[in-house]
Amino acid sequence: LKEKLVDFEKSVMVSHFAASIAHEVRNPLTSIKGFLQLMFMNEKDQKKVQYYMTIFSEIDKAENIIREYLTFAKPHKNDLGMIQLKKEVLTAVELLQPLARKNKVNISANNIPNHLYTEGNAQHFQQALINIMKNGIEAMSEGGILTLQLEEEHHIILSICDTGHGMSKEQVAKIGQPYFSTKGENGTGLGMLVTYNILEKMNGKIRIKSKINEGTCFHISLPKSENSILEETASTN
Ligand code: ADP
Ligand code: MG
Repeated sequence: LKEKLVDFEKSVMVSHFAASIAHEVRNPLTSIKGFLQLMFMNEKDQKKVQYYMTIFSEIDKAENIIREYLTFAKPHKNDLGMIQLKKEVLTAVELLQPLARKNKVNISANNIPNHLYTEGNAQHFQQALINIMKNGIEAMSEGGILTLQLEEEHHIILSICDTGHGMSKEQVAKIGQPYFSTKGENGTGLGMLVTYNILEKMNGKIRIKSKINEGTCFHISLPKSENSILEETASTN
C-alpha cells in the first residue's frame, strides 16, 4: 500500500498572471475553431481533410490545458464564502456522469450529510473535485466504481475512491508536479497541480492511498467552518 501525505510547500504556485493569459487565449481559440469548422465542412480534398483533423486535435489540446488553468482566472477576493460540501459534491457528480457512462463507471455518493460547510471559493473547489474525480474515472477505462464519502471528525474528510489501475510509489510521489502525466497525448499533467493549489488555499490536506490494479483513494481533509458548528448546535437543541 502506497501512501503519501502531500507536502503543499513543494507544489508550485500557479500565478494569477498565467491564469489571466489562459482566460484571454480561450476566446480567440474558440473563434479559430468555429471558422475552421466552416472551412472543413466544404472540404473535398482528402489530404486537406487530414490536415484539418490534425489542427482540430491540436486546438483541443490547447483547450484542455486552458480548462485546467482557468480556475485561477478572475481572482476576486469577495468570492470567498461558505461552501456546502454536499451541494458541490452532487454538482460535480452530475457534471461527470457523461464521462462515467462512457467508461461504464458507477458513481456512488450516498448518505452525504447536509450540514457540513467549509470556507473558500465554491467554483474553485468544484474544479478541484472535478479534477480528482475525472482522474478516478479515467483510471477505470474498463468500468468500476467511484465512491464519494463525506465524514465528520475533527475536520471534514472527503474521500474519493476508485477501483482503477492504481499508481506505483513513484507515480504517487510525482502527482501534482507540473506536467506529470502518464496519459501521453490525452494528459496535461496540470489537473492535480491546480487541485493542490486550490485545496492549499482552503487549508486542506490530501492523503493518497493507491495500490496497483486495485485502485486509488484521495482523502481530503478540510476545516469545518463556523456555519456547520452553529447548525450542529441548533439541531441538538
Ligand atoms: P492528467 O490527468 O492530465 O494526466 P493530472 O495532474 O490530473 O494530469 O494527473 C497526473 C497523473 O496522476 C495522471 O496522469 C495519472 O498518472 C496519475 N493519477 C491521478 N489520479 C489518478 C487515479 N485516480 N488513478 C491512477 N492514476 C492517477
Ligand atoms: Mg487529470
